[in-house]
Order: sequence, then structure tokens, then C-alpha cells
Amino acid sequence: MINLVLFGPPGSGKGTQAAFLIEKYRLIHISTGDLFRYEMSHHTKLGQEARAYMAKGELVPDSVTIGMLRNKVEKHPETQGFIFDGFPRTIPQAEALDALLISKGTEVAGLISLDVGEEEIVQRILLRGQTSGRADDNDEATVRKRIAVYQSETAPVFDYYAEKGKSHIINGLGTIDDIAERLSDVVESFGKD
Ligand code: AMP
Repeated sequence: MINLVLFGPPGSGKGTQAAFLIEKYRLIHISTGDLFRYEMSHHTKLGQEARAYMAKGELVPDSVTIGMLRNKVEKHPETQGFIFDGFPRTIPQAEALDALLISKGTEVAGLISLDVGEEEIVQRILLRGQTSGRADDNDEATVRKRIAVYQSETAPVFDYYAEKGKSHIINGLGTIDDIAERLSDVVESFGKD
């Protein structure tokens, strides 16, 4: 199995690149943000729980998020691997992911971070907000809050996997194809060192 963590601030292109990676490597894509939006649109209890946090640009509590992620992983015992997009976002989430994968006899192969500067991502998200229908993409204060939360709570996850020799950074600027090629180069280096 090959399990990838696609990492980077909101608006860095994780969703776009995940679409390319699932096609190329036949992996299951798990975006916790997409899962929460699905739950909200179906008015489930989980969706209700997540709504207020998402609207404010804050993280949904780990207890809720980890349980949801675990359920999703359990649904795909036959897969060749997963792409985790927007998860893990905290150290406890990373520890829970590692424990879950170890219990299945596998592990995170690597984390790949898309490097994009703050002003670029603010502009990208506000532009996306014109068509995404996402309330959290439309308000600049909420967008900046999400970036601040990324810096304080999520960026340490990069160091967590770096200590295990698993973190990689690629330039997140350029065309979709350029970035996809950089990503493939990293994915193909896994298992060779
Ligand atoms: P995203 O689509 O990844 O930008 O996520 C949108 C929002 O969903 C975030 O701002 C959080 O409120 C929530 N969310 C998504 N993934 C997580 C996660 N792994 N942990 C906590 N909250 C999350």
C-alpha cells in the first residue's frame, strides 16, 4: 500500500492535485473538508457539530474528526492506498493516523507539502469563493484565520513527519501539470531510499 499525506495551507492546490494523483496511482482520496461539507449538506448530526467551527475558520475537534476519518478508512479494505488531503491537521490526528495504519500493517509513505506564499493563497481562495459556494472562502477575515490556524496547529505536523524522514516540500506555483510532475517525482522516490 502507498499512503500519501498531501499537505499545505488552505488554497495551496491540494484538492486539484489529489484528483491527478488518484487517477495516476489508483488511490482512494480522503478529504476531511469534503467529508464535513457532505455531512453538512445532508444535515447530519456530524454536519451540525462541524458547522460552527468551519464557519469561523477553526478546526473541528480531534475527537470528531478522527472518528470520521477512521470510518472512511475502514470502508476501503481492498485499496492500494490512500491520499489524505486536509488530514492530519494536528499532532494528535497524526498520531491517530499512524496508529490506525499500523493496525492495518501499513504506514504513511510520505507527506508532500505544497509551498505557496500567504498573499497568493488569500487571493486564490477569495477567487475560488466566487464559485465554490463555500462561506469560509468568501470572507477575508475567515480566510486569514484559517491560515493562522494552519501556522499554529497544522504546520507542526510537517515537523512530526520530518523527524521520521518522511516530509517533502515542492514548489506549489506554476501550472497544474508542472506541479503534478513535481509531485510524481517525489511519489516515485518513495521506497527507493
Ligand atoms: P478544507 O476543505 O480542508 O479547507 O477544510 C475546511 C474546514 O473543515 C476547515 O477550516 C476546518 O474547519 C474543517 N476541517 C477539515 N479538515 C479538518 C481536520 N483534519 N481537522 C479539523 N478540522 C478540519
